[in-house]
Amino acid sequence: MTVLAFKMSRYANGVSCLHGRVTRRAWQALWPHHREDEVPVGHITNGVHVRTWLAPAMQELYNRHVGADWGENLPDPKMWARIDSVFDAELWETHRTLKATLVSFVRREAEAQRRRNNHSEELIEAAKTTLDADVLTIGFARRFATYKRGNLLFTDMDRLRRLLLDPQRPMQLIFSGKAHPDDEPGKELLRTVYQSSLLPDLRARIVFVEDYDINVARHLVQGVDVWLNTPRRPQEASGTSGQKVLLNGGLNLSILDGWWAEAYDGLNGFAIGNGVCHVSTAEQDKRDCESLYHVLETEVVPLYYDQDEHGVPHGWVARIKRAIRTLGWRFNTDRMVRDYVRECYLPSAGVNSCAMPR
Ligand SMILES: *Cc1c(COP(=O)(O)O)cnc(C)c1O
Repeated sequence: MTVLAFKMSRYANGVSCLHGRVTRRAWQALWPHHREDEVPVGHITNGVHVRTWLAPAMQELYNRHVGADWGENLPDPKMWARIDSVFDAELWETHRTLKATLVSFVRREAEAQRRRNNHSEELIEAAKTTLDADVLTIGFARRFATYKRGNLLFTDMDRLRRLLLDPQRPMQLIFSGKAHPDDEPGKELLRTVYQSSLLPDLRARIVFVEDYDINVARHLVQGVDVWLNTPRRPQEASGTSGQKVLLNGGLNLSILDGWWAEAYDGLNGFAIGNGVCHVSTAEQDKRDCESLYHVLETEVVPLYYDQDEHGVPHGWVARIKRAIRTLGWRFNTDRMVRDYVRECYLPSAGVNSCAMPR
């Protein structure tokens, strides 16, 4: 089908810079007279529809500080630079409120699903006090396809326990997602996460939300502190859920794959690994896993809990602002559709796209 599509199309592109490169390498044989970098496959990186995913409270914050017309100028970098004029305390307070909303949502979901699954009255009751809005909150929600490695954080349970149960600087996890009904290894990953969420010592710090859909996704991306993504590079063509947390004030913690490989600049989120792949997947998993724990222990947790006397983590908020300023204008559908019109649709129709206004 891919060959047929290439041969029948006037234009082809990858959905992130890295995906374009991987595609040129994978299909070079179709263009035997071209060097790999001359294979006619470019890239247009995916974006998300901001008004679908952005929390109303953040929309209001942008109305106040970025300008009432921010929604019409999403791909404008100069506009997003105005985020630096927002007081840290105001941005943090808005985020804290959204996180509290997420905690209430997850408690309600956990209670309902435990009732539905005939769990003990004790476990159902426990759902009402699970999670804590003051605790560093990591979200992970996507299809449980094996290459996305939804269980990577659960590789070393002792190390995970130390992170979750630290008396001064704890961490909590909200997971969601479905596996394909025929994907047995995928279902096995999901089982690991789900069973961990019911362990007596961890269940106040890990929740698995069933029936992942757009509504669950919307709650998660609007309230988490950190969005975790652990694909086996370079298999994530783009990934978009991490883009949904950007303008909501969440930070990405991700393998340098898909969109994150071109987005991360060292200070606008966190990276797992250094973008180097190993021929052995077992070895790559081991290295990525070590890096994930290391980054959590030495960067993410310390930065989050470095808070002033009012509970505002200024270093953390600086990263949020940097993410909004450096990434907000790029990873939205307005920019994406503009790129498709300019680079694909108009040239394919024989129209000179240089005549289009910027
Ligand atoms: C955004 C979204 C996805 C895609 O997320 P990825 O990061 O690309 O895996 C899948 N399902 C739902 C419900 C979503 O909201």
